[in-house]
Amino acid sequence: MSNTDYLLAVEDITVSFDGFKAIEGLNLYVDQGELRVIIGPNGAGKTTLLDLICGKTRASAGTIRFKNQEMTRMAEHDIVRAGIGRKFQTPSIYENLSVFKNLEVSFPRGRSVLGALAFRCTDEVRERVRAVADEIGLTGSLELGAGLLSHGQKQWLEIGMLLMQDPELLMLDEPIAGMSARERELTAELLARICRNRAMIVIEHDMDFVARIAHKVTVMHQGKILAEGPMDAVKADPRVIDVYLGH
Ligand code: ADP
Ligand code: MG
Repeated sequence: MSNTDYLLAVEDITVSFDGFKAIEGLNLYVDQGELRVIIGPNGAGKTTLLDLICGKTRASAGTIRFKNQEMTRMAEHDIVRAGIGRKFQTPSIYENLSVFKNLEVSFPRGRSVLGALAFRCTDEVRERVRAVADEIGLTGSLELGAGLLSHGQKQWLEIGMLLMQDPELLMLDEPIAGMSARERELTAELLARICRNRAMIVIEHDMDFVARIAHKVTVMHQGKILAEGPMDAVKADPRVIDVYLGH
């Protein structure tokens, strides 16, 4: 296998569930600093693809490389440590803890128990919490119980919890579902900020939002890639209109 300049290189990947191929022979290449959006009808295999990259689901065939490192059979926590963060569709924040605490507990601990207990809850952590809170627009809510946040703010907090780990690739599954128009706008700005120094893969259905954030769009259909390219080209592709946009 030759080396690649891509941050992420997914090659010839197939995922079978009891003989049913949820993903078949798929290739996906993501650049450093790129914001890639994946679209496609329900059941296309979008979530399964993220499951695969974060190690939640295993490939039946194919390879996944991140910064030229083979990830295909790596454990989930090692994939996180390698620099890949993933947000699921339902937010998983600690509702009873403050926003500050939610961010603080997400700071990566050392490998050893000693590392976890030692100096960590210090200026370094506090500084990082403040920087992340600023990035996700929750500086004014740090002392608030996370359960009191709006739906949109909860989603941002969870993104912030992932940012605490400083991932080089961040993957989000339908991040604006249930958000107000204003929250969607702020989320678009947030994602653009995040992409200044890391790459993202975002699954989304809202085409106005996709047009606003995507550097490049990948259209999935029945476990394969149907089309890929800039939003304008993808939107005008008759096959994409036929299986997805036309409905
Ligand atoms: P999308 O996110 O594009 O809507 P999914 O990746 O969730 O699609 O699902 C793709 C296909 O794989 C669907 O037909 C779904 O039913 C199937 N699938 C997903 N996960 C599993 C699983 N753990 N076991 C069996 N089938 C699954
Ligand atoms: Mg899905």
